[in-house]
This record gives sequence, C-alpha cells and structure tokens, in this order.
Amino acid sequence: MRGVHLDVAALTTAPVLCYHRIGGPLELGVTRVGRSVFARQMTALARAGWRTLSLDQFSKPLTSHLSPLTFLLTFDDGYASLAEHAYPILVDLGFTATTFLITDYVDVRYTWSRLPHLTWRQIEQWRARGFHFASHGATHRRLTWLAGEEVATELGRSREQLVERLGPDGGTAIAYPFGAVDERVVECARAAGYELGFAGVKGNSDRLHLSRVPVYTWDVGEVPFGLRHDALGVLGRVVAHAANRCAIGTSIMQLPKRRTSPLPESIAGAASTRA
Ligand SMILES: [Zn+2]
Repeated sequence: MRGVHLDVAALTTAPVLCYHRIGGPLELGVTRVGRSVFARQMTALARAGWRTLSLDQFSKPLTSHLSPLTFLLTFDDGYASLAEHAYPILVDLGFTATTFLITDYVDVRYTWSRLPHLTWRQIEQWRARGFHFASHGATHRRLTWLAGEEVATELGRSREQLVERLGPDGGTAIAYPFGAVDERVVECARAAGYELGFAGVKGNSDRLHLSRVPVYTWDVGEVPFGLRHDALGVLGRVVAHAANRCAIGTSIMQLPKRRTSPLPESIAGAASTRA
C-alpha cells in the first residue's frame, strides 16, 4: 500500500527522485548532496530491495513494473561531476538513472561558478552503459516567464539537439527548469514532441505534468523523503515543495543583465542554487 501522496500522478506512476549535483565543491545553495550521503542512500535503497527504472520502463503503467519498490532516479543540469561521483556508484549497485541536460551547456567546461558540465562524448559513453539522457531545456530559462515563441524555441531546440545526437529516444522527456510549468508550457512541450514532462513536487495526471521530489542538502537520511511513506516523508515533500518554489530567487538572478562575460547570459547568470 502506498502512503499519502500529494498528487494523483503518484498513484499511477512510480515515484521520481531528483538530485542535482553530487559531491564536488561546497556551495551556498541547497541542491548539492555529498558523495558519501548519496552513496549511503543508494546502497540503503538497494539493500531494502529498491530498483531503478529506465525512462522507458517508467513510461509504462505501474502494474507492469515487477516490484512496487521501483523508482525513477533523475539528475538535473548535467554536471560533469556526475560521471565521477554518482554514475560509478550506481553501476556497482545495478542502478540506472536519467539525466536531464541543459543542451546548450553540454561541452561547456566552465561557467562562472567553475562547474563543468558533461560533454557529448561522456554522455555517449554512459549511455552505452545503460544510462539515459533527456532535456532540461536549451538554456535553463524559467519557461512560465517566457513568451510563447521563446518557450517553443527552448523546448524545440533542446529536443532537436538530443534527437540529433542520441536518436529518437533522446527526445522523449523533459524536466522543466525549476519545475516551473503551466498549461501553456505543457501544450508547448506536447507540440514539440515530448511524451513525458517532469514538474515539481506537485504534478497531476497529465504525463507532461508529472510529479518529482527533489533531494536537497538536508535530506540526509538513508531513504530520501520522496520514497518515504511515513509522516516524515510527507513533511519532507512539503518542505521540498516550498524550497522548490523558493528557487524563484535563482530565476530572478537569471533575468537579462548586462553581459560581462563571453559566455551567453543564461550561462553566466546561472546560480549555484540552480534547480
Ligand atoms: Zn535545473
């Protein structure tokens, strides 16, 4: 029996965890999870019988999953440190994951925050080892704040890049930057050709508006809040929802500003608390 959930989608799909950065330099933001915490969480989940789903398995009805202890493990932003601190741990446990890439950032080694992103070469190598990659937009702009044409460009260009590099499978899913989505963005994603769309903690029954629970810095227990069915899990999801909404501060930092670096504004303005 599944516990209390915040939305309808959770009743028909497996739970989805969302990590951002694993290990590497400390930051002021809330999205970095230490390598040892991540390793402990994944090992505990594996020992408890949890298994990860591929994006394709996740897209099937819940009843087709072999075990109720299945979840979709996702990473946002595509930091290069995943290849060093996260993927090897998952390989050892027989886990897989889906990473949502900011497609214009792939191959960009350093932003102002000195955090490199995965390269296409790394992505292709890890894909060959059973990992999955999808879209997190072209430049990580908050889609709900953009004009319709800009939303279409962000979604369309990102999907085109992924399909061109990875084949049709690369264009299946999108995780909306900051989890920010509304009916208009959902329709744009549908028109662009996406089949699955991941929002914040609160989703609905639309496959392009699915729920996902972020794992933040304070979520250090063996079982992340997003997979707990007890009161602590419910509380943790409420807090994650609030923190996700607070990521609006990061968006404000990304509003157009005078260009001070040779990088595109959206890259130069990306804060370390990126969601
Ligand atoms: Zn993000």
